Amino acid sequence: MDVVSIRDFSREQIEHVLKIADKMVPIAKGEERSVLLEGFVLGSLFYEPSTRTRLSFDCAMTRLGGRTLGFDEPKGSSVAKGETLADTIRMVDAYCDVIVLRHPQEGAARLAAHFAGKPVINAGDGAGQHPTQTMLDLFTIRKEKKSIEGMNVVLVGDLKYGRTVHSLAEALAMFGAQLTFVAPPSLQIPKEHLKQVEAMGEKPKISSSLQDVIGDADVLYVTRIQKERFPDPAEYQKVAGTYRIDLEMLKDVKKDMMIMHPLPRVGEIAPEVDLTPHAKYFDQAFNGVPVRMALLGLVLGGLK
Ligand code: ASP
Repeated sequence: MDVVSIRDFSREQIEHVLKIADKMVPIAKGEERSVLLEGFVLGSLFYEPSTRTRLSFDCAMTRLGGRTLGFDEPKGSSVAKGETLADTIRMVDAYCDVIVLRHPQEGAARLAAHFAGKPVINAGDGAGQHPTQTMLDLFTIRKEKKSIEGMNVVLVGDLKYGRTVHSLAEALAMFGAQLTFVAPPSLQIPKEHLKQVEAMGEKPKISSSLQDVIGDADVLYVTRIQKERFPDPAEYQKVAGTYRIDLEMLKDVKKDMMIMHPLPRVGEIAPEVDLTPHAKYFDQAFNGVPVRMALLGLVLGGLK
């Protein structure tokens, strides 16, 4: 099946992915070998920059014995000659067994899934969704906190353009977490996602002040202001640097509060925070490997 939107998955299906991901950890760490995906080819099409998502998919595929082909920027491909996404997808569909697509346009993965016969995995579509990031985020919370239900999760930063929080907020609501959305009013969570969260019986708090809510957080999910999505650079300048987590900010937080970030960070978390027990964003980045291994194994390798 395709992995386009977190809405396409039930809680049970996500739980299943997380369970398999747990078993993949020794292979992800290189402590055990696997040939589960030997002979399989992953087509990796990245129309937007990426470090963690692209490399962790590549790592996941390689660790399971498969191979990856593709591009990490469209300039070197026929996209630069004006080829449409639909045509590129039709080609890559013939060269590989699964397609991983990152694209600046919302809905691109859905379109690709329409034209591809092979499974399509959405690695981020504009300001839309980032479902595999969501699964690794849930995996990280579960690992640290043992449970997601009842956790007080504060999501802070660019909730308007940040695709990671769009899919994560919906999934967290499905898992019964309590949500607080902290953003400047112009970057608050879009109505569409808020409605989805509320439809799952969740009554999120909305605030623009991190200081007011940080003391109650079990999980603080920090995001970057998505500069590249602002139609007007002056608007970006108005909100850049609104939130910064430093030691001062962490003075009165819960002892076991965990800080997450999908990365890259561009000043939202001061480097000195890395040395505190709250910092979990590098573990989170590693977790992308076992979670993507689980997804590839399920989509390709006949795992049940
Ligand atoms: N790496 C994440 C994404 O692709 C977060 C970010 O870029 O801020 O959405």
